[in-house]
Amino acid sequence: MKKSILFLTVIISLLIISCNNNSDFIKARDSINISDLERCVRALGSDSFMGRAPFTKGEDITVNYLAEQLAEIGFEPAFGDSYFQDVPMVKISSNVLNPVRFSGTGREFKYSTPDQLAVISPRTTTWIDIENSDMVFAGFGIVAPEYGWNDYEGIDVRGKTVVVFINDPGLYTGDTTLFKGTEMTYYGRWTYKYEEAARQGATGILIIHETKGAGYSYTVPRNSSVSPNLFPRSADGDPSKCLFTGWISAESADELFSSMGMNVSLLRKDACKKGFRGFPLDLKISLNIKNEIEYSTSKNVAGILKGSERPEENIVYTAHWDHFGIGEKENGDSIFNGAVDNGTSMAWELSIGKAFAALRNRPARSIVLLFPTAEEQGLAGSLYYAENPPLPVEKTVACLNNDLLLPMGRMKDVMITGYGQSELDDYVKRAAAEQDRYITGDPDSHTGMYFRSDHFSFAKKGVPSLFARGNTNSREFGKEWASKMVKDYIDNKYHRTSDNYEPEKWNFEGIREDAQLAFTIGYQLATSNSFPKWKSGSEFAKLRK
Ligand SMILES: [Zn+2]
Repeated sequence: MKKSILFLTVIISLLIISCNNNSDFIKARDSINISDLERCVRALGSDSFMGRAPFTKGEDITVNYLAEQLAEIGFEPAFGDSYFQDVPMVKISSNVLNPVRFSGTGREFKYSTPDQLAVISPRTTTWIDIENSDMVFAGFGIVAPEYGWNDYEGIDVRGKTVVVFINDPGLYTGDTTLFKGTEMTYYGRWTYKYEEAARQGATGILIIHETKGAGYSYTVPRNSSVSPNLFPRSADGDPSKCLFTGWISAESADELFSSMGMNVSLLRKDACKKGFRGFPLDLKISLNIKNEIEYSTSKNVAGILKGSERPEENIVYTAHWDHFGIGEKENGDSIFNGAVDNGTSMAWELSIGKAFAALRNRPARSIVLLFPTAEEQGLAGSLYYAENPPLPVEKTVACLNNDLLLPMGRMKDVMITGYGQSELDDYVKRAAAEQDRYITGDPDSHTGMYFRSDHFSFAKKGVPSLFARGNTNSREFGKEWASKMVKDYIDNKYHRTSDNYEPEKWNFEGIREDAQLAFTIGYQLATSNSFPKWKSGSEFAKLRK
């Protein structure tokens, strides 16, 4: 009798605790509000932040603002007694001496940069002189054991220059059993191709540009090759990079290959076949690059709300703080305010943090709010954090990132960029259903967006990482309208001085819902024991320790 009374008491008190926890959670979730989001975007997107470029006064203003906000919502400094993590970086401006020369038996070509070739040197060496480097064609430049694929098998590229195609074979064949079909895998990204070529010991790499495979026109690599590039500073003097990297325009590649009796599109077809072998080309390349090198330090900003039971285990939210500063005038405006990129996501993240801090019962695991620097410059800040985290990376349960949250009102969908990568999809699905929303993949998954924002730096370290937001279906105006809004932003505002906060046009309700969704997912992770896993087909599964 006594035993059963005791048992009942235990059950009842457990029920009361779980009921309290549930109302605690709901209260915190529902405290996420539009006026907080609005206030934050108004500040971060204002001219006084000077476009938030690393190494400028705009950086100081931005990182100080974020640190103040973190303190105000009750997050402690994440790096000892500081909210700041110094990120040592190097800024390299590469000047290629024109022309770049190609020579083969009885043939010679001179191409100019940046219109025919977009080339830089990522090395911290002032002069890069390449004389007659042998060229090798290496298919898609991919080594992917899980797909039984090795474009470098049987060819020696040490000290040579490789030429490869962009994207991966799945895109061009439409064969869903080849890689991930039309969805780009990391093997399709230019960053991967540069990394792999360096691992193989190549001196240089040229990617043949093609708009569909790249996801953008040749103008994009062209323009970024003539502006300075920021890299994390490496202690080893960066021998792990090729001496030069870059792209060759489709027209120039056509001319070069047809001079050797080859046709680029037929070659691409061949390179998509399993068992295709790369081969040496009857071609050598010569080029000279002068690098201007500048060392500097930028800052990541992060705060932590320590977990009550297992503070080492943590969930990281990310939204990069940097943008492009002040540049050329366009329509009378020279400040890159980046209100959407990435003002709205920083507001999203701070709102989520504030909700966590409002909980009466602290979750068992810690919550980290990270604002990385230099995302626009190849994810440098988040890569540095993932290499040098204040809490062990293997105890980092998940990363929830956001970028480019459009203020277009409530959405029916939650678009998961990188859908199918990890079990986090299932968390999104449940949380979305509670909001009467459904999940969907990225309709433009062939552009590899999953590899183009800060969550990817965590994925590279094996941490399941999520990039999810409402983006394709407006509750009020439907799908077509939503895709028009996205297109309008990309065509007219993305990375331009017109990315401004426009109070009369903006509707924050969808961003509030996205914040509540991400809070819900983070809360479930922070109060549980489990570690979500990568799905078996993911290229990151092998990286999780
Ligand atoms: Zn961004």
